Amino acid sequence: MIAEIHVHGHPHKFGLDKADTFCKIAKQKGIDCLIFTEHAHTLSNGFWTDKNIKILSENNDIIIMTGQEVSTDIGDILLYGYPQLIQKKMLFKDLQSSEQWAIVSAHPARRGKINRLNPWMHKIDAIEVMNKSYCIEDCKQSLDFAKNYDCGIVGSSDVHLNRHVGICPCYVPECKDIFDFVSYIKLKQVVPLNIRAF
Ligand SMILES: [Zn+2]
Ligand SMILES: [Zn+2]
Repeated sequence: MIAEIHVHGHPHKFGLDKADTFCKIAKQKGIDCLIFTEHAHTLSNGFWTDKNIKILSENNDIIIMTGQEVSTDIGDILLYGYPQLIQKKMLFKDLQSSEQWAIVSAHPARRGKINRLNPWMHKIDAIEVMNKSYCIEDCKQSLDFAKNYDCGIVGSSDVHLNRHVGICPCYVPECKDIFDFVSYIKLKQVVPLNIRAF
């Protein structure tokens, strides 16, 4: 399936309308799944509710999953399958790795700061090698970095606006839930795409 794995729909700020529009655009572009990864501090009352996920998914015939984006001292981190919502900036050293959740470095090459990941690569499952804010040099630098550490690679559109949907989605094997997605990240079976190239 084709998935947008880094999407900000801010459900509690704008209701479901913004996220619903993302779903409609995604569907038109042939995207099968959206994974909403809000910054936890933007959510006033917890994760997306099951009810909202069901409404969006059924209204648009699309798979909806959730993760979260967390600010740390080594940059933004996407967490998938993590059991709690992390609402404050944290030190990366305090984040535990586990088979139960995936830790992905979001836009690590932005502003040339990829090297601050060096001491922590044993805990990072994958890094974004494509992001809508990257220039070609950022892509190359992060691909070289991932190769050097033999770590997983993903792409993301880091969707905030309608026009971001579909810039850098990923191919992901069929998933029944976020835990399947976590295992595909760890198996390095997630593949970044640029669908504008097709
Ligand atoms: Zn970010
Ligand atoms: Zn983001």
